[in-house]
Amino acid sequence: MNEELKFDTRSIHGGQEPDKAYGAVMPPIYQVSTFAQSAPGDHQGYEYSRSGNPTRAALERSLASIESGNYGLAFASGLAAMDAVIKLLSPGDEVLSTNDLYGGSYRLFRRVFEPLGIKFNFTGMQDVAALEPLINEHTRLIWVETPTNPMMNVIDIEAVAALAKKHNILLAVDNTFATPYLQRPLELGADIVMHSATKYLGGHSDVVAGGLVVRDKDLADKLYFLQNASGGVCGPMDSYLVLRGIKTLHLRMQRHCENGEAIAKYLETHPKIDRVYWPGFPTHPNHDIAKRQMDGFGGMISFVTKKGDLEDARRIVSALKVFTLAESLGGVESLAGHPASMTHASIPKEEREKSGVTDGLVRLSVGIEHADDLIADLAQALG
Ligand SMILES: *Cc1c(COP(=O)(O)O)cnc(C)c1O
Repeated sequence: MNEELKFDTRSIHGGQEPDKAYGAVMPPIYQVSTFAQSAPGDHQGYEYSRSGNPTRAALERSLASIESGNYGLAFASGLAAMDAVIKLLSPGDEVLSTNDLYGGSYRLFRRVFEPLGIKFNFTGMQDVAALEPLINEHTRLIWVETPTNPMMNVIDIEAVAALAKKHNILLAVDNTFATPYLQRPLELGADIVMHSATKYLGGHSDVVAGGLVVRDKDLADKLYFLQNASGGVCGPMDSYLVLRGIKTLHLRMQRHCENGEAIAKYLETHPKIDRVYWPGFPTHPNHDIAKRQMDGFGGMISFVTKKGDLEDARRIVSALKVFTLAESLGGVESLAGHPASMTHASIPKEEREKSGVTDGLVRLSVGIEHADDLIADLAQALG
């Protein structure tokens, strides 16, 4: 859809047309549960808003367009979107997943789907060659999050896609951190792209929503069946908010990237900082892959101070004034978080620390304020 248009144009016009009723340029918020039928089964394309709603459909076409896919599906949250993907599987099936991933994703896999008989194998995926021995005849899905949250490791999507194809396994990529402005997994061979639209796509910290995009019609039909049958759909108002956010995604991402770079470089030279995790550094272990598969390095940064303990991390995030201490990421405003006690608290400490999420780790979602103010804020908080 609109493949010939550039990304910036697709983020505004992709899959959109003036509304049929009055030519409204933005799709109206069809805040309605049901649609009149002139005879049983005779309607204008919509019958009940769980099955389909024009505002949601506009968002779904936009998602498909910006992710270079054919079919989009919008959900009530990122986790509702993931829930639909895992429901493609059956008891006895196995999933190979990134080990350093969003805490809620880990909880969904371990606490909801494992008791239902689906097995999850968590592993680092920076070394793709080490993945093949972990595949067996039950492996049905590979779940990749890249850059990883919060350690900012980068996984080679194209290489994992080749491996998945070879073994006839589905590959799903959580593209929440990078956004399609920086990385389009379907172009690299992935089968499913997943988003927490709550983050950069919405972009204004005012909505919780999720999305899936695929190219294959069969897969789209199966996911649509699950979306409708389980019912975790994105409401009309939320669909509208995400769609509105997507229209400025390219502009916001440019500034997120610029500010991210300025802050990563500032932190790297700060005498009190031990390590900064940001894929834009040439010294980052996966920098070459990041450069190849991403069009920029984004505004997500994690760091550890030289003290590196819980007290120091808590002191810093509490002292910030322009950065807000809060869960979530990807909004216009800068946020700071403490993964071990916030976003990743649902992962057992031992499991967490294996992937580097220590008590001293601080994560920043760099917003689109002026970089000077953000740096001054970090300077005062680091003391
Ligand atoms: C927030 C987030 C999710 C979950 O999305 P919700 O919209 O909160 O349900 C999944 N993956 C990543 C990377 C996230 O940041």
